[in-house]
Amino acid sequence: MKSVLRLRAITQARKTTISPRVCANTSGQAFRGTSTPSRSISSQHGSAPPERSPVGAAVALLAAMGIALYAGMRLERVNSKHEHERVPTYASKREMRVALDEVGRELLQAREQKHRKSETSLTSKDGDDDTRSDQGPHAPQVEDLISTDDTDIQDHAFSEWSTSNSANKPFAIIYPETTEDVSIIARICTKHRVPMVPYGAGSSVEGSFSAPHSGFTVDFSRMNKILSIHADDMDCVVQPGVNWVTLNKTLADAGAGLFVPMDPSPTALVGGMIATNCSGTNAMRYGTMKDWVVNLTVVLADGTVLKTRRRPRKSSAGYDLTRLFVGAEGTLGFVTEATLKLAVVPKKTGVATCSFPDVKSASAAAVRMMREGMTGLAALEIMDEMQMKVINRGGGTLKSDGKTRRLWREEATLFFKFSGADQQSVNADVRRVEQIAKQFGGTKLESASNEKEKDAIWAARKEALWAMLAQREEGTEIWSTDVAVPLSRLAEIIDISKKESSGLGLFNSVLGHVGDGNFHQSVMYHPSDKDETAKVAKCVQTMMDRALEMEGTVSGEHAIGLGKMKSLYKEVGEETIDMMRRLKLAVDPFWLLNPGKVFDHKAEGQR
Ligand SMILES: Cc1cc2nc3c(=O)[nH]c(=O)nc-3n(C[C@H](O)[C@H](O)[C@H](O)COP(=O)(O)OP(=O)(O)OC[C@H]3O[C@@H](n4cnc5c(N)ncnc54)[C@H](O)[C@@H]3O)c2cc1C
Repeated sequence: MKSVLRLRAITQARKTTISPRVCANTSGQAFRGTSTPSRSISSQHGSAPPERSPVGAAVALLAAMGIALYAGMRLERVNSKHEHERVPTYASKREMRVALDEVGRELLQAREQKHRKSETSLTSKDGDDDTRSDQGPHAPQVEDLISTDDTDIQDHAFSEWSTSNSANKPFAIIYPETTEDVSIIARICTKHRVPMVPYGAGSSVEGSFSAPHSGFTVDFSRMNKILSIHADDMDCVVQPGVNWVTLNKTLADAGAGLFVPMDPSPTALVGGMIATNCSGTNAMRYGTMKDWVVNLTVVLADGTVLKTRRRPRKSSAGYDLTRLFVGAEGTLGFVTEATLKLAVVPKKTGVATCSFPDVKSASAAAVRMMREGMTGLAALEIMDEMQMKVINRGGGTLKSDGKTRRLWREEATLFFKFSGADQQSVNADVRRVEQIAKQFGGTKLESASNEKEKDAIWAARKEALWAMLAQREEGTEIWSTDVAVPLSRLAEIIDISKKESSGLGLFNSVLGHVGDGNFHQSVMYHPSDKDETAKVAKCVQTMMDRALEMEGTVSGEHAIGLGKMKSLYKEVGEETIDMMRRLKLAVDPFWLLNPGKVFDHKAEGQR
């Protein structure tokens, strides 16, 4: 009885005072997962209204005054400080539960309204009840939209290929299906001060999707529709949960002759790709994700929905808000729709490889090849001898017959993709590459002879990270990092980094997109061994510092996430971070969108 009265008092206080953040609830369990649902939101709110009594009213009044005073103190603390020093405070678990109930209720209401609308329109069209019941959408339950299942939460909290994981976990996972759903979630989260973490496929490697402040993880996997393909305009409109491999297959099946050229993890989804400004092996030729996004529909923290611009391939109208959200790692808004440019599928392609005595000569050859300006050289990748060993231990790659497998020379290897309008021009570039490779001690180029072999070789490169994980010693984890430097410094940094990491006496390897001056280094270590962990951390930090000394970046394509926040400060400086912080506060004043990523709410010196 007391608790119900307190709840009423709080609700009253919320109506009359300032901060929705003070909302609290003494009732309510978390929802159980999709597989083991417990009770629904509606039953929780279906209890009979409490009786009134003078004692109860007095208690309610005192509670309201207490809450108002508390809220006032908190607000004063916030207002008395400079904006940038504001300390974000987040909902307690109990408050998150209240917020989750509200989200579930509103998401269901939105569906019921839609359902009623579709029924009305069907009735007005033909009034045929039988067809209506077949076509009407199935009425969803809250368990279809929200999960607090332990396994689901763990899956969204942790990844074994991520270098940085947070000990904290999301409170719940929400699966929106429309932009309107996302707007509802954001509005309610802001009202209750619940952190919101967007989630795509979870393939990012710097802890970008982890939930250090808990809150709600918003999983976009159900917003996976390709909304339109405009082949003549060379673009498509997609929801954020569309997987790039599926999109390219759909374009190929439709005979569009077009494709999306970014190729991060084969599992990655468009929203995550935009939020990390991803690239991949094709970036040398086609650029990175930022070059392929025409416009975005975005939901801000308070639930506002905006579209950054219209659909022409170029525009100089106003601020480029599209780019503001690309690479923001979900800290500025949720991407709920994107128009992407499409590239023309090259008429002729080729894939070849070439081995070198060491990574230094392989990377020096790569830089030289870049300087030649060959238009047909579409991708240029490196794998060191350790990576080639990993491929062999995994059984090698499929040969052109699609059945037998080939093993590789366990030496530093360059992988090339060639493309062009005709075979002659492709062949000319292959010959030129071969000549340069020879000057740096490279072997004869080995070319794949059919599509199956091309795909197999490229897949071996793309899936190198998973191959390493599959073969790691028990009890070890991977520390994988990614830096990029100006091309002329590439051979030098790869060589020194490789020597230093080899000095650790642990499994370590180098691979990467050398055509872009971007490479990854991976070290397997025992996290239970503190000394070993500290040594690896130092080695990785030295590599990032070295990249900065060479005017490079601490992240060529894997973003900042949790893991590289300090290094970002070193890279761009406090003024630049401060500008980012002001932008963040302008659209997310309560620091709710993916908090704890990219940079901190406090300046470096104040931490
Ligand atoms: C085997 C393997 C190979 C890889 N190769 C490459 C590579 O070659 N190049 C490369 O760039 N990366 C590569 N990656 C890293 C990874 O695939 C990319 O970072 C990818 O862009 C992440 O997409 P995702 O859908 O998995 O996003 P997630 O990991 O789920 O999320 C990444 C970030 O995006 C945010 N986010 C997700 N959806 C939205 C949304 N709708 N709105 C706003 N923010 C959102 C998240 O909050 C998070 O900050 C590789 C990873 C693996 C495992």
